[in-house]
Amino acid sequence: MSTIPDNIAKVRARIRAAAQAAGREPASVGLLAVSKTKPAAALREAHACGQRDFGENYLQEALGKQAELADLDLAWHFIGPIQSNKTRALAEHFAWVHSVDRLKIAERLSAQRPANLPPLNVCLQVNVSGEASKSGCAPEALPALAAAVAALPSLRLRGLMAIPEPTSDPSAQRAAFARLRELQEGLPQSLDTLSMGMSDDLEAAIAEGATWVRIGSALFGARAYPPPSQTTPGA
Ligand SMILES: *Cc1c(COP(=O)(O)O)cnc(C)c1O
Repeated sequence: MSTIPDNIAKVRARIRAAAQAAGREPASVGLLAVSKTKPAAALREAHACGQRDFGENYLQEALGKQAELADLDLAWHFIGPIQSNKTRALAEHFAWVHSVDRLKIAERLSAQRPANLPPLNVCLQVNVSGEASKSGCAPEALPALAAAVAALPSLRLRGLMAIPEPTSDPSAQRAAFARLRELQEGLPQSLDTLSMGMSDDLEAAIAEGATWVRIGSALFGARAYPPPSQTTPGA
């Protein structure tokens, strides 16, 4: 049976190999450990291997783990769908939100960010695959959204995030990630973050410039429920 320390070593080796193949510094790719549905003990074990950044999709679940792990120096990232009645807790309890896809949410996060905390790091989630059911802002709407979010005082717009339609075809994986990179390159803001790539496609994402790969099952094992989805009303 594979253990969390083994899995972390394997994922780090994959990241290193993919970065080297792309002519990139391995340190330019951050590993975000996606810990949804996993118990606090699993995160503690990952932390003991040097993992500091954790991504969660469900607010209540995340707050419970934050309380259990309050003795550790962790950086919490929210990566799930956002309901507007949850923005206050997100603004208070997270360092990053990767899944901002509309201005109303960004305005609330900025207004509700406590004054004693640094600006909240945000990524704009973009629907690069164009599936009607998925969340994420439409590529056409991105420039206006980015301009408005960049102007909010308590947010720091860092970059873009996407969850492309799953495919096992590496060239299709790369095409979707390239699309996100090109959208970012087309924006006038200077952005340093591309949050893209999961357990099955991190190599393609790194080849196209990912700076955060969001890895769940390859670190913590399969989840009983639910699959990565943007439609789960979990936030
Ligand atoms: C669950 C999830 C992941 C991790 O997916 P794996 O395939 O388990 O690595 C990454 N990003 C988001 C937004 C997710 O919801």
